[in-house]
Amino acid sequence: MVKNVPEIFGCMVFNEEVMAERLPEEVYHSLRKSVEQGKEIDPSIADIVAGAMKDWAIEKGATHYTHWFQPLTGVTAEKHEAFLTPVGGGKVIMKFSGKALIKGEADASSFPSGGLRNTFEARGYTAWDPASYAFVKDGTLFIPTAFCSYTGDSLDTKTPLLRSMDALSNEGVRLMRLFGDTETKRINTTVGIEQEYFIIDKEMYEQRKDLIYTGRTLFGAPAPKGQEMEDHYYGELKTRIQEYMADLDEALWRMGVPAKTKHNEGAPAQHELAPVFSTTNMAIDQNMLIMAYMKKIAEQHGLVCLLHEKPYAGVAGSGKHNNWSIDTDTGKNLLKPGKTPMENKQFLLILAAVVKAVDEYQDLLRLSVAHPGNDHRLGGNEAPPAVISMFIGDDLQAIVDAIVSGTAYKDHARTKMNLGIPTVPTFTKDTTDRNRTSPFAFTGNKFEFRMPGSSQNMALPNIILNTIVAESFRQFCDVLEGAEDFSAAVEQLIKDTLTAHSRIIFNGNGYSEEWKKEAQRRGLLNLKTSVDAFKTFAAEKNIALFSRHGVMSETEIHSRVEILYENYAKLINIEAQAMVEMAARDILPAVNAYTAEVAAGAAAKTAVVPTADVSMETDLIETLSALVGKAYVTVKELKAADAAALKAEKGQATATAFAESVIPLMDALRRQVDEMETMTSSEFWPMPNYGDMMFRI
Ligand code: ADP
Ligand code: MG
Repeated sequence: MVKNVPEIFGCMVFNEEVMAERLPEEVYHSLRKSVEQGKEIDPSIADIVAGAMKDWAIEKGATHYTHWFQPLTGVTAEKHEAFLTPVGGGKVIMKFSGKALIKGEADASSFPSGGLRNTFEARGYTAWDPASYAFVKDGTLFIPTAFCSYTGDSLDTKTPLLRSMDALSNEGVRLMRLFGDTETKRINTTVGIEQEYFIIDKEMYEQRKDLIYTGRTLFGAPAPKGQEMEDHYYGELKTRIQEYMADLDEALWRMGVPAKTKHNEGAPAQHELAPVFSTTNMAIDQNMLIMAYMKKIAEQHGLVCLLHEKPYAGVAGSGKHNNWSIDTDTGKNLLKPGKTPMENKQFLLILAAVVKAVDEYQDLLRLSVAHPGNDHRLGGNEAPPAVISMFIGDDLQAIVDAIVSGTAYKDHARTKMNLGIPTVPTFTKDTTDRNRTSPFAFTGNKFEFRMPGSSQNMALPNIILNTIVAESFRQFCDVLEGAEDFSAAVEQLIKDTLTAHSRIIFNGNGYSEEWKKEAQRRGLLNLKTSVDAFKTFAAEKNIALFSRHGVMSETEIHSRVEILYENYAKLINIEAQAMVEMAARDILPAVNAYTAEVAAGAAAKTAVVPTADVSMETDLIETLSALVGKAYVTVKELKAADAAALKAEKGQATATAFAESVIPLMDALRRQVDEMETMTSSEFWPMPNYGDMMFRI
């Protein structure tokens, strides 16, 4: 049990407090200024910062340091270097220079580059991101860094993220000046990421090749019970889970991750953790740590944490809710409507900017969450559909309606809640209800983007959010800077923008069939699969957007598209091969063995009593033999389709071949196998079933 949370919190992090204590005052202030204003670090202070970091890290038990980066694989990468430096006479000292802190060199050839680089041009660089804290983990000092190629093209997710934060800040500050704010120097986006996950017993996990190879079950008939009783969401935590969560919290607190909320989620064995929000790049680094620790701590409890979007068919999948807001460095939340939003023109203009951005760049938002795992989730149980829309709630809707139609707006006072129980105090109701079905919902002073998948790195969704809103701001500034009557121009701009883009606003049930039809009528995009979404990335308007704001060059975009196609093809290929292996070597032999035993039993029965009723045996043998035969054919077809897809010309052609000819056969094989599972003795079934995995923890 942790006794003193404030004492352990952040004890492994080189944070503000440690820096203030250990760095000479002028060095600390120079560093702070660079970070706060997004300016370059004065190189002369690097040696001093590095020395202080090293001394502190050694006290925390570190012997090594690593530049920690986020290549385009979706996971993090690290290469550990010892501090030790020989000084002759067989002796060593512990050394860490400013140069080594600022810049690292890494062999980039084994990381995806999407054709940006030939393998012989292997050099890559990692560069320190001083805006995210360094920390000590497992005896190593971790330094968050960006990663780029020898030619300066970014090979990671962090570089464009930092660039997008700058873009939003630049255009945002420009807008603030127009509203008479002369103090704000920097605008930041704040992000709070809710992380959903599943837990499974390690012994069961070990018996499922599909989980081991792909992170999800490729086969599995539904258990008698799913989530229909709605008894898991917010349910009482089982002891084993509660102990796991307590250790996880403690480990995260030590790393300075403010883990705050934890609870059971909708599906059996599904849970959620949310930290307190922070600046975007820090929030994303912390989310990567959260995922790493979720897995690591699970191992210590004989459990495995599944971060896949859809480990089990038929129950809810896991997402990652990206709560996003805009803050000034003077501490103002720009998405706060205030008590009288109708009069708050600055808020309404910023709301209009987001509405416009989401409508004009639906394709990019959809793209930012596109990967094979999420294809199983979007539109499934308790997940938003693939159509992007925005929820703003009744109060703001009434304001938008009044503005668009030019009619008077009647403010309804905030109501008090009275439950009719004298001892329960009354409280004020929130102005907006929650809408769980909207992919992009306004929740009081922030937007919650609910489409991202549980396994993904959150950089791309935030790169896109920041850049598209920066673009709205830019266009607004261009109009307003030339306006004669500023106030009238703002009102006109709000009205014009909301009128043009209100089709993206939808406050109803996003899970319903009617909405799909209505969305089509409104002309909203419905990019059903990842491959449909990938195609939109390099559209002319999107290249123009990213290059205008210096977030990604055309080359960088094309390389990312290549990687998306490549990853998609590789993942589906692994899934197809795992299915073939499991079916051919485990499942079909098991069903045959069971059928043979049933046949032997029937023969034994009739040998004793020739007239004995063996109708059950006969029927089972007939049905199972037919299914085994069909499944055997499907396995062969799947193998052939997989081989053909691999031979297709790279990129889009390969990904499309996997989507169109491999996935349908995987679905067919799964149906055949799941049917056999329901008829085969559990003694013979070669792996744990859905009920075992989800209910026996
Ligand atoms: P929910 O009720 O939606 O499940 P949670 O408490 O699980 O809410 O998560 C809400 C998340 O939103 C938390 O990470 C919280 O810190 C974050 N959040 C709150 N305010 C802001 C803000 N201004 N900017 C970004 N994130 C925020
Ligand atoms: Mg939550």
